[in-house]
Formats: sequence, structure tokens, C-alpha cells
Amino acid sequence: MAKSKKEVVVLGAGLAGLASAHELAKAGYKVRVYEMFDFIGGLAATIRKGEFAFDTGPHRWFAKSDFVNNWMLDLMKGEIKSVKRLTRIYFDNKYFFYPIKISNALLGIGPIKAFMAIFDYGVYRIRARVLKPKIVSLEDGFVNQFGRTLYNTFFKRYSEKLWGRPNTQISADWAGQRTRGFNLLTVVKDSLFKSKKIVSFVDEFQYPEKGVGRIAEKLAEEVEKMGGKIYLNAKAVSFNANGKNKMTGVEIEVKGKRIMETADFYINTIPLPHLIKFMNPKAPKEIIKESETLKFRSEVQVALFIKKTNITPDVWIYVHSKEISFMRFMEMDNWSNVLSPKGTTTLVFEVACNEDDETWNKSDKELIEMVKNDYIKEFKTIEQKDVLGGYVHRVPFEYPVYHIGYTDSLDKIKEFLDNFTNLQTIGRNGIFRYNNMDHSIEMGLYAAWNIIEGKRKHDPYLVNIEREYLEEKKL
Ligand SMILES: Cc1cc2nc3c(=O)[nH]c(=O)nc-3n(C[C@H](O)[C@H](O)[C@H](O)COP(=O)(O)OP(=O)(O)OC[C@H]3O[C@@H](n4cnc5c(N)ncnc54)[C@H](O)[C@@H]3O)c2cc1C
Repeated sequence: MAKSKKEVVVLGAGLAGLASAHELAKAGYKVRVYEMFDFIGGLAATIRKGEFAFDTGPHRWFAKSDFVNNWMLDLMKGEIKSVKRLTRIYFDNKYFFYPIKISNALLGIGPIKAFMAIFDYGVYRIRARVLKPKIVSLEDGFVNQFGRTLYNTFFKRYSEKLWGRPNTQISADWAGQRTRGFNLLTVVKDSLFKSKKIVSFVDEFQYPEKGVGRIAEKLAEEVEKMGGKIYLNAKAVSFNANGKNKMTGVEIEVKGKRIMETADFYINTIPLPHLIKFMNPKAPKEIIKESETLKFRSEVQVALFIKKTNITPDVWIYVHSKEISFMRFMEMDNWSNVLSPKGTTTLVFEVACNEDDETWNKSDKELIEMVKNDYIKEFKTIEQKDVLGGYVHRVPFEYPVYHIGYTDSLDKIKEFLDNFTNLQTIGRNGIFRYNNMDHSIEMGLYAAWNIIEGKRKHDPYLVNIEREYLEEKKL
């Protein structure tokens, strides 16, 4: 096949951008990837500090699409291992399995609350069937699915800690994408007649032995081998268009200097509101206004390097209490034992915040002290002397905030961007959708195929649209 000499600029070196770049470089396109930070992998990176390696939050691989799953296994040949999953919720000095196991949950909350939980679960299920109530907010979604007692006990505090606002202000879409609904009758039936034709992602998952960031690193290595270029510390700051239907260039800022980069095609994975905000000529006022309603929740991740191993049996633990600064933490040696020197491990704590709020602006030292003291006081599994050091990683655009009505804004923005024939926007923040890694990769492949095939046959907007969170697939 004759190799194409067409040029493609990809904005962002996360999994979506790198998957596109990889596919295009393989097809002979001249690809340049621009990444604002000094590392690749975006939200799914592995940070290495001395002899310690840790991920930017817990990342387990599970893909419902066989195609994407095989694509990843082929890329990562020999680097993937299976990890046993235990994840729990911690509150009121107790641990509960997550995903929720109904017997464990009911026993754990005590007989009175358990009775109330079963009773109002029943009431809400009947209500859902008979009245078919309109589900608008996250609270509506959870209560409709689980009943109010289980919602108040297991979902309310965590979600509000994550979003920093009441669940009545977040769209129910998020509940559909993050929690597997359950039906008490199905739970009983499943436990009696467990189907062998179901693959569960609950108990075990795939993971690159040297950290989740290896997926992005492997992609980048291959892109560069095939002649593609990846530029770090290179931030896209303005997007030029001919005013009608074509992108004509992207201004990239490197060390304070701006350079105009041009190409035949552009693939965007940077946050959608930023793309709109910095368009030149300006996007219509209405589109700018809609894009300004799209916000991201940020996160500070604090890694503590510990002179001890297997501090918990879990891969991660959710922490509900408002008084404890972090909402979740993970223990790296339960993922892989090659990520730190023998006899040590790394605990990674996630503290949800907004960019530029009080938490975000604390110094690294303050954040390390805050998390360390909270952990030692509450969990009592390590002492001050066990902590060898710490590291802080700030993530500005971590979670797209699904405010109520966000889809109306997205539809208008999409309609506007569809006019640009040589621009595709994809990825978790580029499309403003709560993607997992496999979704972002699939979107990346679609964008590349659309360029290679010369028509937009593969619609990234159709990826990750199931309302149910996927924890298992039928064989
Ligand atoms: C805490 C956490 C846990 C997760 N757990 C899982 C899990 O268990 N399983 C799973 O499958 N998925 C998980 N995910 C989701 C997964 O991380 C993402 O879906 C995926 O990494 C998104 O890739 P992306 O390329 O779409 O976006 P990103 O990773 O956000 O990539 C976009 C890139 O663009 C760069 N960028 C932004 N602005 C600019 C600019 N102006 N110029 C240049 N570059 C720019 C960013 O720095 C980034 O590198 C998790 C996510 C988080 C945050």
C-alpha cells in the first residue's frame, strides 16, 4: 500500500490521542502529538520517583468490546497480568464490599437499618415500576435504583465528597455510568444459578505489570519508531480556522514561545471548553456560553512511600467520611509487586477539589502531612516512622461534571464543531464523557480510521453510551 504523506496534528498525549497517533503512523501518516505536561498518559499515567512507581489513581483494564480488548493485549504482549480485585468502602469504622454485596451490606448496617433498607428498596422498586418517575438528578438515580436507606448509607456521602456539591445538582447519567444497578431477585437468582456464560470484571482484572502508564508509553514508543513525533511541555493555546469549515493551524506554546503548527487533519483530546474558548476567529457567542457551563472537578493525588507491604488486602478503598481528607486510596503492591523495592509499597490518596481552591493551593508539604496524619489516625496500620517520603500530583481536569442539562450544551457544541471537516474531538475531556480507558482508545481508533478511510464512518459519539455500568459481559 502506498504510504500517505498527509500530516496530522494530535492535541494531548493521553490514551485517546496516542491511540489515534499509533493507528495513523501505522498507515503512513506524518503525525505530531503535542502534550502540555512533561509526561505522557494523561489521566492514566505511571509516575516514577526514584525506585517507586505509582499510578495516577486506580486503573483496572476491562473492556466489553472484544476488539478493543484484543487490540490492547496485542499491543502489550507479555506485559499484562491478572489482578485479584478486592475493593471496599470504609465508614464508621467498618468495611463493606464494593460493588455492594447485599448480605454483607445488610449485616453490616445492623438489623433496624437493614429492615428499613429492604422495606424502602421494595417501595422504590414498586414506585419505579408503577409511577415511572422522571429521573433527573444523581440523587433521583441512586434512590430509584437502591432505595433511600441504601442511598443515604452507601452513595450519598461519597458522591458529595467527590463532586463537592449536593447530588441533586448532578445529572443522573453519572449513576448509570458508574454503578451497576441491582435487583434483589436477580441477586438471589444469580447466587443460586450462576451462569458460566458471564465473564465478571468484579473479581479479577487485567493490568500492565509495570503500571497502567505502560499502555501510553508503549503506544508512544511505537509511534516514534514509526516516525511520529511527540512533543512534551507543548501546550495548545489557540485554534485557527478559516471561518467556515476548516481548521488551518494550532498555536503551540513551548517555553513561553508560540509556534503555529499546521496539518491536513487535527485530532483534539484536550478539554472541550478550552478548544471552544481559544478558537480564532471566535466561536459564536452562544457556543462559548454553552461551553462555559462545562466544568471539571480536579484532584490532588498524594503518594506516600511506605516501609511496609500489604498494609491492606484491597486494591483500593473508598473513604466516605467528610472528616477524612481523601475519598479513596490505593495500595500499589496489591496491583503489582515490581513497582517498589522489596519490603516497601506506595499508598496513593485521592483528594477531590476544584482547581485553585484551598486544597489545590496547599503546598506539597501541607498535603503530604494532611493525608499522612488522617490515614495514621483513622486506619492505624502504619506509624509516622514507616513513611519514607511523599509526592504530590495535581490533576486539573479529572472528572467532567455532569450538571443537570449538560447534554443540551454538548449537543449545540457538537453541531457547531461538526462543521469543521478536518477536526475531530475525542476522548474523556475532548468529548466531555465519563470514559474508561477502553472507551478513549476506541474513540482514538475511530478518529484515525475516519481519516484513513476518507469519510466519517466511525462515530466516536457512539462509544460509551450504555446507561448501565459494565461489570460483566456475556460470552
Ligand atoms: C482516578 C481515575 C481512575 C480511573 N480508573 C479507571 C479504571 O479503573 N479503568 C479504566 O478503564 N479507566 C479509568 N479511568 C479513566 C481513564 O483514565 C480515562 O478514560 C483515560 O485515561 C482518558 O484518556 P484520554 O486520552 O481521553 O484523556 P486524557 O488522559 O485526559 O488525555 C488528554 C491529554 O491532553 C493533555 N492536554 C490538556 N490540555 C492540553 C493543551 N492545551 N495542550 C496540550 N495538551 C493538553 C492532557 O495533559 C492529557 O495528557 C480513571 C480515571 C481517573 C481520573
